[in-house]
Amino acid sequence: MVKPVVDPLLPLADQILRAVAADGGIRMVAVETTVSTRYACRRHGLSYLTTTLLGRAMSGGLLLASSMKTHRARVSLRIQCQGPLRGLTVDAGRDGGVRGYVAAPDLELELAPGGRFDLTRAVGRGHLQVTRDEGLGDPLQSTVELVSGSIGDDLASYLFHSEQTPSAVFVGERITRKGIRCSGGVLVQVLPKAANEPALVDLLERECAAVEGFSRQLEAHQGNMAALLQSLFGVLDPQLLAAPQPVRFHCRCTASRCRAALQLLGVQELKEMIDQDGGAEMTCHFCGEAYRFCVADLQEIIHGLTASAVKPR
Ligand SMILES: [Zn+2]
Repeated sequence: MVKPVVDPLLPLADQILRAVAADGGIRMVAVETTVSTRYACRRHGLSYLTTTLLGRAMSGGLLLASSMKTHRARVSLRIQCQGPLRGLTVDAGRDGGVRGYVAAPDLELELAPGGRFDLTRAVGRGHLQVTRDEGLGDPLQSTVELVSGSIGDDLASYLFHSEQTPSAVFVGERITRKGIRCSGGVLVQVLPKAANEPALVDLLERECAAVEGFSRQLEAHQGNMAALLQSLFGVLDPQLLAAPQPVRFHCRCTASRCRAALQLLGVQELKEMIDQDGGAEMTCHFCGEAYRFCVADLQEIIHGLTASAVKPR
């Protein structure tokens, strides 16, 4: 199978940018995930098709996370589907960190008419589950049926049905035989205080319907998300809220978290791992990192568990 080339000469760092328009009645966010998508592609050995899907979902996750309140807040997107993709998971933070994986990284399908990736067929019927976690306990979880599998419309459907926010989500990319040229997305939504202003909602709908060739415009404004917003929605006069925030593929897995997971298995199962496997290996789904624990490591964990079990109160 031919996999996308990662072109080391391509510059740039990913970024996310927030803006408001129409006297604060409209919220806009633009994110570029080119470098993160390249990294995910290399890390997971993704095909062209799954690079597209994961890149879009990572952009979408970051766009949703941008409205969270606390710096450690996170949004997770989980697609469970009947198509050959089988599933996809993304975890995106308000801090700009994002990670994700797909269930079938090698999946490639014949192109749909017009030379497009057949995302709808890859994903098939299924559900999108969104979890918003501010990091303060009580995460909010909501599930909607997939409407297209192309990610953008599915996220807009989620925002409309679960959060009652009229929104448009554009996600796109350009991937050629030379590599992943760009990946990113834009979220535009009417804020709750303006949701009852039909003229504003109509204006936004008109402007969003007029957007053509999102991926082409994304590529044209790579590295400058402010220029992208201006190009797409200049009529609405977007005002930047702050400087762009860096975005990067970042996995939070560590050896000590794996060790904690092993502890949960209990003494009996750890002893079986020593006897039958001569150690343990855990691979992180999100980034593919493998953590190995030798017999001595496992014995140390067992020792810790038995020592704490007999510790007097
Ligand atoms: Zn990891």
